[in-house]
Amino acid sequence: MTNGTRAEVVVDLDAIAANTAVLRGRVARPLMAVVKADGYGHGLVPAARAALAGGADQLGVAVLDEALALRAAGVTAPVLAWLHGPGADFAAALAADVEVSVNAAWGLAEVVAAARTTGRAARLHLCVDTGLSREGAPAAEWPRLVAAAARAQADGDVEVVGLWSHMAYADAPTHPTIGAQVRVFEEAVAVARAAGLTGARRHLANSAATVALPETWYDMVRPGVAVYGLDPLGGDAAAHGLRPAMTVRAAVALTKRVPAGAGVSYGHTYTTPAETTLALVPVGYADGVPRAGGNRAPVLAAGARRTIAGRVCMDQFVLDVGDDPVAPGDEVVLWGPGERGEPTAQDWADAVDTIHYELVTRIGGRFTRRYV
Ligand code: PLP
Repeated sequence: MTNGTRAEVVVDLDAIAANTAVLRGRVARPLMAVVKADGYGHGLVPAARAALAGGADQLGVAVLDEALALRAAGVTAPVLAWLHGPGADFAAALAADVEVSVNAAWGLAEVVAAARTTGRAARLHLCVDTGLSREGAPAAEWPRLVAAAARAQADGDVEVVGLWSHMAYADAPTHPTIGAQVRVFEEAVAVARAAGLTGARRHLANSAATVALPETWYDMVRPGVAVYGLDPLGGDAAAHGLRPAMTVRAAVALTKRVPAGAGVSYGHTYTTPAETTLALVPVGYADGVPRAGGNRAPVLAAGARRTIAGRVCMDQFVLDVGDDPVAPGDEVVLWGPGERGEPTAQDWADAVDTIHYELVTRIGGRFTRRYV
């Protein structure tokens, strides 16, 4: 670590570009790189630019503010924002040439009103719920939504450019819901085409489906986590030709010798088994290091794997480094690609019983971000 750097998230932009290229090459069709949630914690704009450099055809975000932030940064590629509540500023979306998605007749009415106000036709995606029971119009409402969208398209207020849905079990490639969702999706597409919405791209596949379910690729895939080099199936990213882009590291802030029997951190949930050196690492749960990592999560400290000793605090945690010659300023890697023996985000996810998605999107707080 450079002198004075307390803690940093290092983002390998070439890895994001290379992962995008691998995924796009695999599916040989357009790819929408999902960069919501600050590019899964990697930085919205740098991640977007890296994915575009790797061949992404379009970007996907959840909320409009994320799309507008991309535009404000000068990103001109097509962007879809798909999650809007009542009163969303669709006029701003259309003025910024952001594609939007709707799930319901009221959302479509708001988009049409914005199109009339701004004099710009909306590039519209229609979302159908094929079994996730999350976003998307229920199958029973789909024909009415499609008919209304077809009318709005005939009136010149919208151009329906996408028909899409999201999967519940893509990370379990043999799960029976996959076939069921595909069937519902295809019926929904048939209804839309019969209503004259023939120019829309169909997209269904998240990362897991992009690596494992070719029958879901349709006209475009929509991966997020795999773009950042994390295995959506929870295994080894390298098996899919992917490289994790994020390394999370900190510098030891203090070391001290303590006797056997010293209780460590709040609640003394760890007690030193012998005289030892403790090393203080100046990042904690306020920075996105899960509190559940106490006595569970691994790190690489001055070249050796260690488990966090005692509870993770708001700003810091402690390591028992034994008799190793660890000194203030030495590097502690929480997670990274794994190439230097450091834990991966998947190792952390296993240790604290979550998914790597949650870890990378929450890391931040007072970490400095550095792009390499
Ligand atoms: N599409 C939608 C609608 C999503 O909500 C997400 C992320 O949760 C993605 C695509 C990308 O998913 P993943 O990161 O699993 O590839």
